[in-house]
Amino acid sequence: MPRIDADLKLDFKDVLLRPKRSSLKSRAEVDLERTFTFRNSKQTYSGIPIIVANMDTVGTFEMAAVMSQHSMFTAIHKHYSLDDWKLFATNHPECLQHVAVSSGSGQNDLEKMTSVLKAVPQVKFICLDVANGYSEHFVEFVKLVRAKFPEHTIMAGNVVTGEMVEELILSGADIIKVGVGPGSVCTTRTKTGVGYPQLSAVIECADSAHGLQGHIISDGGCTCPGDVAKAFGKAGPWCRGREGRRKRAPCTSPGAGADFVMLGGMFSGHTECAGEVIERNGRKLKLFYGMSSDTAMKKHAGGVAEYRASEGKTVEVPYKGDVENTILDILGGLRSTCTYVGAAKLKELSRRATFIRVTQQHNTVFS
Ligand code: 5GP
Repeated sequence: MPRIDADLKLDFKDVLLRPKRSSLKSRAEVDLERTFTFRNSKQTYSGIPIIVANMDTVGTFEMAAVMSQHSMFTAIHKHYSLDDWKLFATNHPECLQHVAVSSGSGQNDLEKMTSVLKAVPQVKFICLDVANGYSEHFVEFVKLVRAKFPEHTIMAGNVVTGEMVEELILSGADIIKVGVGPGSVCTTRTKTGVGYPQLSAVIECADSAHGLQGHIISDGGCTCPGDVAKAFGKAGPWCRGREGRRKRAPCTSPGAGADFVMLGGMFSGHTECAGEVIERNGRKLKLFYGMSSDTAMKKHAGGVAEYRASEGKTVEVPYKGDVENTILDILGGLRSTCTYVGAAKLKELSRRATFIRVTQQHNTVFS
């Protein structure tokens, strides 16, 4: 008999945040910056905990230059050369505290990352990203990178369950990337049948990580500023898995939401993204694709290896102009969420917010 976990698991679209009485007068009073001290690196970081995904379309140096002006973070994609990094470090030294160098778990990636961190020692974050964070090889890789870089803050993933979050933290990672299958250009769920509803994954993984003084990133699946707010939010009693650690008192437990939120699709289509603006039938578009798509694999690996299926889409998204406008839209939405629930700081959002289950997100009569 296959085992079926019948606990309710939810996505962002299944909930809304309940408004609460608040003494805040205006959105401008809300402080979105957070300060974290990481479990294994012992480093401290302050910033608005929104991260541009390490995809080669959005995780660019141009993006990082704008993001860092807002104290926001960019996981730089792994395909830049050492010379590109040196140039960026020379031209934008002020950005270096808000970027991570990315790597897969291959030897070439590790060598490149090592040379970048040697050449640009101001970069203190490492983003170890594999499609399947459940492999023993990946766990060993995290241990190896931790041993090599004892003082760098390591982000690692992706996983969606508490036991793997704990294993990666105990292996040396500081921040666990959570999300299998929710991404805007991800086809993992249709190709493999594997996945986990993102809101529940975040709530359960945050619980495990926070129990060990670790942190998590909600990675993928945000389609609008409201979803970003929900990722930072916290669980109602029905959100917790049957094995949930704080099952009896979930409503009062602090920090059950994500510490960081990573976005790909929401930052796609901007001036700062890689690629040219395409003009078609009077419309301006930009290419956006998954890092496991045919497009990415042809570009970086000379084609799709025959043992693996492409698990990413390639899409043309409307050209959205400068990313500054999107940043202001997201931050404005987040500040407004905080005022609705009475949180003067983003840090308080997870304590103040309560989700309600819904069957409809918004009125679609004109959409
Ligand atoms: P989004 O914000 O666009 O919904 O999700 C971004 C995330 O999707 C990335 O950070 C990464 O974890 C994931 N992702 C990016 N490319 C691919 C891909 O080709 N396949 C899969 N399965 N996930 C991807």
